Amino acid sequence: MKKIILRKGKEESLGRFHPWIFSGAIHHTEGDKLEEGDIVEVLASDGRFLAIGHWQIGSIAVRVLTFKKQRIDQAFWQKRLAAAFDVRKTIGVAGRADNDIYRLVHGEGDNLPGLVIDIYAATAVMQAHSVGMHVCRNELAQALREVMGESLKAIYYKSETTLPFKAQLGQENGFLYGESNDDVARENGLAFHIDWLKGQKTGFFVDQRDNRALVEHYSKGRKVLNMFCYTGGFSVYAMRGGAELVHSVDSSAKAVELVDANMELNFPGDNRHEAFAEDAFKFLEEMQEKYNLIILDPPAFAKHKDALHNALRGYTKLNAKAFEKIQPGGILFTFSCSQAVNKDQFRTAVFTAAAMAKRKVRILHQLHQPADHPINIYHPEGEYLKGLVLYVE
Ligand code: SAH
Repeated sequence: MKKIILRKGKEESLGRFHPWIFSGAIHHTEGDKLEEGDIVEVLASDGRFLAIGHWQIGSIAVRVLTFKKQRIDQAFWQKRLAAAFDVRKTIGVAGRADNDIYRLVHGEGDNLPGLVIDIYAATAVMQAHSVGMHVCRNELAQALREVMGESLKAIYYKSETTLPFKAQLGQENGFLYGESNDDVARENGLAFHIDWLKGQKTGFFVDQRDNRALVEHYSKGRKVLNMFCYTGGFSVYAMRGGAELVHSVDSSAKAVELVDANMELNFPGDNRHEAFAEDAFKFLEEMQEKYNLIILDPPAFAKHKDALHNALRGYTKLNAKAFEKIQPGGILFTFSCSQAVNKDQFRTAVFTAAAMAKRKVRILHQLHQPADHPINIYHPEGEYLKGLVLYVE
């Protein structure tokens, strides 16, 4: 195996099981010339074994797969995937008739850095975020079939936009196993079309399941506005919760089509719902309807640390508009999925917005990502989704 030797003192974070090695920590390499995606052994400056991981060009140079000396083969992947599947059964999202949408693998949170696998009924959508996982994709697919057995009919690989462009892997999206046209899956008893071919991410935002259930809980008799609705997850739950009306807004016309299709699937002919293809800020500015439950779930405003300042201003501006417009006694669900924005920063941005709108606001719930998006305790960077449920007097 090719070897990477760290600079003196740079092994410390590995001692705390942090799974990343930054390029600046590397002193030199030994063996044949490194190729992106190679499995490498990582040694301390004194030659002590530390870990085995995937190497690639970039600031995160190695993503650690194991801190033990062991072979990285199909049996290794199978064991890791089986462990992830067990967690999903333990938390009660897998093996249910009314819920077959869940995240099976959440990267570092499942000790599989660079890999995401979402399950949509009999189809798994696999996404590589590292070159190493891309190189291993067929082995992973085989291991996944072993772990999931008969319940799995197809594995769709969707990494065109998540792999480093410069690696020039010539990757294409496509089925690694089987094929499936059945695009309907269930979340907490509600049905959704999942567009893994053209949709965002793996086709659905699996991470809002628990938060959608809370929207359902608060929706009875309310006028609900679901901003940045994408496929309309929150809207469908609000309908089931007995909302008086539900309006869904997304700037993408394709998203609005998807919401309408999902509404038809669950509440055919129910005219309490309407969807609008419009910019969120414009809609909030011009809207006439008096909403008393508003959901703000925008895309990540900060994809990197250097965009943090602008992102926080964006959250403040958006939330201030919602505070200004929401009816007295209204409930605001507000989220940030930017990994670069932490809980406290987000809360401060929302606090500023409330003060700008001069509203009395109570925090009812503090929300986060669900249990099938676990956070490796040694990798706090894995925490990304945060939300607040606010009562606005
Ligand atoms: N709440 C959704 C996920 C939201 S993803 C769910 O539960 O599934 C963010 C969405 O915001 C995307 O669908 C994107 O099209 C939309 N979006 C991005 N910028 C927007 C804007 N300025 N106005 C309205 N929608 C926007």
